[in-house]
Amino acid sequence: MSPFPAVDAFRGRDGVTRVVGHRGARGILPENTMMGFVFAMSTGAYLLEFDVVLTADEVPVITHNHRLHAPTFRDGAGNFLKDEPKVSDVTWEQLQRFDVGRVDVSSAYGRRFPDQARVDGLRVPRLVELLDCVNQPLFDAAHLMLEIKSDPEFAHDQACRKELVSRVVAEVRAAGMQDRTLLHSFDWNLLAECQDQAPEFPTSFLTQLPDNDDEVGEDSSKSISPDFSGREHQIPSLVAKAGGSLWCPYVNDVTAETVANAHKLGLVVAVWTVNEREDIDRMIDFGVDAIVSDYPSRVQGRLETRGISWL
Ligand code: MG
Repeated sequence: MSPFPAVDAFRGRDGVTRVVGHRGARGILPENTMMGFVFAMSTGAYLLEFDVVLTADEVPVITHNHRLHAPTFRDGAGNFLKDEPKVSDVTWEQLQRFDVGRVDVSSAYGRRFPDQARVDGLRVPRLVELLDCVNQPLFDAAHLMLEIKSDPEFAHDQACRKELVSRVVAEVRAAGMQDRTLLHSFDWNLLAECQDQAPEFPTSFLTQLPDNDDEVGEDSSKSISPDFSGREHQIPSLVAKAGGSLWCPYVNDVTAETVANAHKLGLVVAVWTVNEREDIDRMIDFGVDAIVSDYPSRVQGRLETRGISWL
């Protein structure tokens, strides 16, 4: 048992491995959209991972990159963007002019998700829209893995970090979702700020070893993440020392041994982004607590075949 109720929702046990919908269910429906989140929850994937950044008018919104991501943002004429303005340079109202319901399959990023549904008229949601949605009795089982994205340009600016955490935390508190939300990031300084400002929330530490390439078309975490060179095997103990409740390693970084070490330290292990069947099976064999996937139903399928529940 953790002092934080949200942590136990992500903890596995004998016969139970948790399933986390990555950006909703990115392989199936447009990422980081209300449609994607509702779909994931409707299929029993009640644990949702998503990404939060601030607009120019400091509205926490749900989108992955710090710039409007050209392969997923279309303008009013329906064309994918050529330039990528920063989210922090556009207001909430301006952001609503863009449609995020399709992925450009001619882009390297889009080619990764050929089966994603094409939907018109989807907008970037505000964080409060998702909080209001999961506050409905229908979604009582929902818990949030709320990733706060650190802008590499401002990652070392303490005032920016304080403001970002304060805006996000205020909205989650106002929605009364403290017991159902993890604060999750690659930026360990930002997680320390979360612990300082909002000690009632558990913190969840993302890691990726430098030898593993970034996923195509994604913002890199490398400039905001600690350098683990020479300390790879110590990562679980570094997370525990930093006061983390969850360790969230990249799928190719974990072994049965590191998972067991993390468990000895009392950490919950949630691995990302696990989409291939052989990787899903390997993570189940390693005994991870939670599997973060763009295809939550695929993970459920593997678990069901093996007589394992996710709830
Ligand atoms: Mg994320």
